[in-house]
Amino acid sequence: LNNSKPKNKNLIKELLLLNLDDKQKKFKFNKDLIQQINPSSHHSPNRVKIDLNPSSGSRIMNSPSNNNNSSRTKKIKKNNEVNFQESHKLFLPKEKIPKTIKTININLISNEDIESNTFNIFQFDKDVGRENTLLSISTYIYNKFFFSLLINSDKFNNWCQKIAGGYSKTIPYHTSLHAADVAQTSFTYFIYGKINNMCKFNNISICSLFLSCLCHDFKHPGLNNNFMKEIKHELATRYNDISILENMHIAETFKIINENKDCDIFTDIDSYTYKQIRKEMISCVLSTDMFYHSKHIEFMNKIIEKQKTGNFNENINNTNEDNQNYLNLIIHSADISNPTKPFNIYINWGKLVYEELSSIGDKEKEYGIKCSFDREKLTLEKSQISFIDYIVQPFYSNFLTIFPKLQYLNDNVNMCHEPFTNIIP
Ligand code: AMP
Ligand code: ZN
Repeated sequence: LNNSKPKNKNLIKELLLLNLDDKQKKFKFNKDLIQQINPSSHHSPNRVKIDLNPSSGSRIMNSPSNNNNSSRTKKIKKNNEVNFQESHKLFLPKEKIPKTIKTININLISNEDIESNTFNIFQFDKDVGRENTLLSISTYIYNKFFFSLLINSDKFNNWCQKIAGGYSKTIPYHTSLHAADVAQTSFTYFIYGKINNMCKFNNISICSLFLSCLCHDFKHPGLNNNFMKEIKHELATRYNDISILENMHIAETFKIINENKDCDIFTDIDSYTYKQIRKEMISCVLSTDMFYHSKHIEFMNKIIEKQKTGNFNENINNTNEDNQNYLNLIIHSADISNPTKPFNIYINWGKLVYEELSSIGDKEKEYGIKCSFDREKLTLEKSQISFIDYIVQPFYSNFLTIFPKLQYLNDNVNMCHEPFTNIIP
């Protein structure tokens, strides 16, 4: 970067500030490049038995020569700029941009589908196979957002497979499909919602956000924090009853990165950027704990108040604190976005959540703990109406005030609500 001509320097800076509209025009995803290069991706990735005790899993220990941090610290950071060794490649014709990851054959699905706000992830999952869904969607986003500027492509590929493999294949809802859905949903907020006009994330924060979406429920056991606390699970002890599962998701993710050289997605970045991404990812994942739902509402109220009183200046960058609050808000929004999807998609999610929450209720009964979700008393319809009325609608009413271009989310919520109210007398 430092050797490039001043003209190029400015162009790079402009691209890094991520004006998505312009970038999308410049970079059209090359469908021909999507072909299988990794034969193993046809097979299921490592079948990881979901283990409530993460410390009992097998570990690949670092040898002293495999010290990733030392290679990171060798990279020099100047004036808070990332040392993008490959950034000049952005100026090559699009066919020659080399870091586009090739992945499984998804010719059946057009590129526009993944970008679409009516993307049917269940159909996609059927078409490409569960073992490929998260990798395909994340690869698409990786290419579209030029994450190769920050993240090594081969390692990203390996990391994604490891992450996908760490999600349970037996619990109903918190699977790699949900993680891929949260990533794809956040992605559409940028495309349709033009959220970056407000959030003004730089490409490092956007990268943190998408990595967080992918790993935010990593190794989810299909139980909830309260249950873990009540049964005095080892993880509850370890994390002092605070965001037990969320702490585990993000800690386990960094274990994968630190203990598997081929999954160290951060080898190409300097230590300053690494620290920023790590900090942002930890905060994003912890903020998906529903305990913080009201904090997100408070933050939105603060922004709305500023907008109303004319104290909001679009030209001023957000403080670091607000930058993080926006990141947390986006991931949380995508995490509770089921009812904002077209009904045929939403209802599939609704059934899966219902099954998972009910089976927690069954376990609570078994353990003699107060039952939080009783399948004998709560129907799918009733539970979804409560979720929409108490959580989703109040949240999105604020969210859409801040991001009015996402109004279609509200239309979907209202339409989702209707079939249920018609069913219930
Ligand atoms: P997470 O566990 O990270 O996916 O956090 C999101 C939480 O929101 C879930 O654990 C559920 O408690 C709740 N949630 C999301 N979608 C639904 C839904 N369709 N119905 C009921 N609760 C939901
Ligand atoms: Zn989630």
